[in-house]
Amino acid sequence: MIDIQKIRADFPILNQTVNGKPLVYFDNAATAQKPLVVIEAIEKYYKEINANIHRGVHTLSQLATDAYEVSRNTIQKHLNAKHSYEIIFTAGTTFGINLVANGFAALLKEGDEVMVSHLEHHSNIVPWQLLCERTGAKLVVITMNDEGELNLDEFEKQLSDNVKVVAVNHISNALGTVNPIKEIIEKAHKVGAAVLIDGAQATPHLKPDVQELDCDFYAFSGHKVCGPTGVGALYGKEEWLRKLPPYQGGGEMIAEVTFEKTTYADLPHKFEAGTPNIAGGIVLGTALDYLNTIGFENIASYEQELLEYATEKLLQIEGLKIYGTGKNKASVISFNIEGIHPYDIGTIVDKLGVAVRTGHHCAQPIMQYFNIPGTIRASFAFYNTKEEIDIFVEAVQKAQVMLS
Ligand code: PMP
Repeated sequence: MIDIQKIRADFPILNQTVNGKPLVYFDNAATAQKPLVVIEAIEKYYKEINANIHRGVHTLSQLATDAYEVSRNTIQKHLNAKHSYEIIFTAGTTFGINLVANGFAALLKEGDEVMVSHLEHHSNIVPWQLLCERTGAKLVVITMNDEGELNLDEFEKQLSDNVKVVAVNHISNALGTVNPIKEIIEKAHKVGAAVLIDGAQATPHLKPDVQELDCDFYAFSGHKVCGPTGVGALYGKEEWLRKLPPYQGGGEMIAEVTFEKTTYADLPHKFEAGTPNIAGGIVLGTALDYLNTIGFENIASYEQELLEYATEKLLQIEGLKIYGTGKNKASVISFNIEGIHPYDIGTIVDKLGVAVRTGHHCAQPIMQYFNIPGTIRASFAFYNTKEEIDIFVEAVQKAQVMLS
């Protein structure tokens, strides 16, 4: 069960007015708010143990290194990875995907194929396009239907021995669709393709089990799971992380450097060049601990309640159309109102204290599919309430009256 009053007390930012109205924060898919334990852990790091990691013999450096590695273990346990060295600290999902796509440049050749889905965020499209440009591989798209779900039968037909990588998101940021990734992974593995899962939108709502899924890579961002910005993690199966070359060169990632030849550090350091976001890395573990204390089952069932409540209320508005109507959805609602530009609604509801996102949500191909410039997206977290949904729906109705 969610104790909503207790949870909201953990998020000081929620308790304020914006434009003279109580803030209703429904832009959680863009970034989540931070609980006090996270904010305080950042402060504590800089007040008490700030030092560079993995280098110094001095006490602070060891304390910081220990805290950083404890967080790596927390992430390992959270994702159920087999080894902690399969967890690479990154700057976020985008960085993780680029790291993998860059690595595959050493393994692909002309005639190979890389598959992404029509439902991807640009950060799970563009790195693969860059890879294809470098290698002569071909980008193949897994198609979607009008409900915003992937066409799995088509996907199966598109698979062949030429496919070397399949990159799909676990949950779509633009529509909220939860993709059947276990099935996708199984099918892709039958032709020997590696599978990268973009978990940016899934990790705030569920606890992925990378061994059970059997994915080869799983990338996510700290800031979407109530952690800091500028940090994230990439899970990679040991065999793949050993096969891929380093992404960036520099300090930390080497075993020995001479001008003739450099040898690389073992995993995970081979992929962690330079001084990382140390505080961010440590506090990412704090954020996951916080979410686990609330419990992902509680989070998921409460958010589903919010999703159903909001969907039902929004659909009572005349001319309102929801995009992403599949059965399996996270707490994201993308919609438009006939004859009104999404941006105009977003601007008016902001004046009424409601924060939603408008636009293409970094998923232009989805907008092209529906032939729309963008949508209004409301995305709910476990600290939101039905009362806030009432305020939001009323704000949308007011905007509709003003703009019609
Ligand atoms: N993939 C998806 C599905 C996302 O929603 C996002 C963030 N909006 C990203 C990737 C990129 O994440 P980041 O900007 O944190 O690297």
